[in-house]
Amino acid sequence: MIPLCEPNLSGNESTYLQNCIESNFVSSVGPYVTRFEEKLATLTGATRSVAVASGTSALHLALMAVGVKQDELVIAPSYTFIATANAIAYCGALPWLFDVDLKSLTLDVELLRETLQLETEEKADGLYHISTGKRVAAILPVYTFGMPAEMKELRGIANELSLPIVVDGAASLGAVYHDYNLAELADLTVFSFNGNKTVTTGSGGAIVGCDNTLLEQVHHLSTQARVGENYDYDQIGYNYRMSNIQAALGCAQLERLSEFITIKRKIQDRYNRLLCGYDGLDPFPQKNGVTSACWYSGVLVDTHRFGSISGICEKLRDKDINARLFWKPVHLQIPYKDALMAEFPNTGSFWERVLMLPCSTNLTDEDQSYVVDSLKKILDLQIV
Ligand SMILES: *Cc1c(COP(=O)(O)O)cnc(C)c1O
Repeated sequence: MIPLCEPNLSGNESTYLQNCIESNFVSSVGPYVTRFEEKLATLTGATRSVAVASGTSALHLALMAVGVKQDELVIAPSYTFIATANAIAYCGALPWLFDVDLKSLTLDVELLRETLQLETEEKADGLYHISTGKRVAAILPVYTFGMPAEMKELRGIANELSLPIVVDGAASLGAVYHDYNLAELADLTVFSFNGNKTVTTGSGGAIVGCDNTLLEQVHHLSTQARVGENYDYDQIGYNYRMSNIQAALGCAQLERLSEFITIKRKIQDRYNRLLCGYDGLDPFPQKNGVTSACWYSGVLVDTHRFGSISGICEKLRDKDINARLFWKPVHLQIPYKDALMAEFPNTGSFWERVLMLPCSTNLTDEDQSYVVDSLKKILDLQIV
């Protein structure tokens, strides 16, 4: 079976893991944690980074640090992985779900601006959603498939309304947004290092930014909100730190970040070149000055013409190729069926057209050609 997206651990991973065992540093304090955090800060232009147990816990901590509280609203796109919404719920807050625009595949900036104008009012202590009376606490855009959102425009809105931005940049390490550093684009930006991400620590996450007060609060909450060495705590904290074992993997992975990103982009370019010339197959959107980290590669399929993505995936699996339908939008998920939401004309049709194809960094050219030829046969495209 050609896997969809598997880790590539052929660098210094096993040496560094061995070092953890030999040095007895296997828990949440250790030289690899420090090194991983420093490297990540440098790579993203952050003043500091905090490594944690998962992308989901990173989102939870970031939202708490920017002040999201019980019963408040957090603006988020519906097209995302469920963890984005779950992190909002962990704060006792509620997602306010928006449609995506088909250029950025995340929060539609124009729609957001119009909706906020119509449905919210500014009061002395913040922005309020008029009909529910709830305070709007933050904006949470997602860097879908590793592509940065329209951050200039979103920051314009956020600044006008004094709203913090937390970015779910789960798989966006290596992405480029004009000449900015990733960490400069929001109050806090979150990464995931889960096994299916381009850079993995098995399970892990991190928060980066340029505001050390916020990042100190993130760090504090991630260590049970401990004060000093004598079992004193000043808030309800969390056991969310990354372990030295996870960070050891991460250090080895980061050494190969630019190599991985180059390969990922090449895989996507090749699918675009070999498949997207055909009617009914389109590439993921691209934007000037913005380069995706190309976490996942795939194509947009005209399902009226070629049938459902699940049907296509089944036929690919018969040929030993793992492919899949991607994120089902949050507004269609049972736990969020009552979330505050608008209409989803774009999200509703977009998610059913996304076909994710094998894109591991160790995918060979021959295997990719086999995937392309198999898909062409399945869809009955003329081989040219
Ligand atoms: C992977 C992912 C997460 C969750 O990260 P975990 O490390 O699995 O907790 C959140 N949001 C997005 C967009 C993701 O892709």
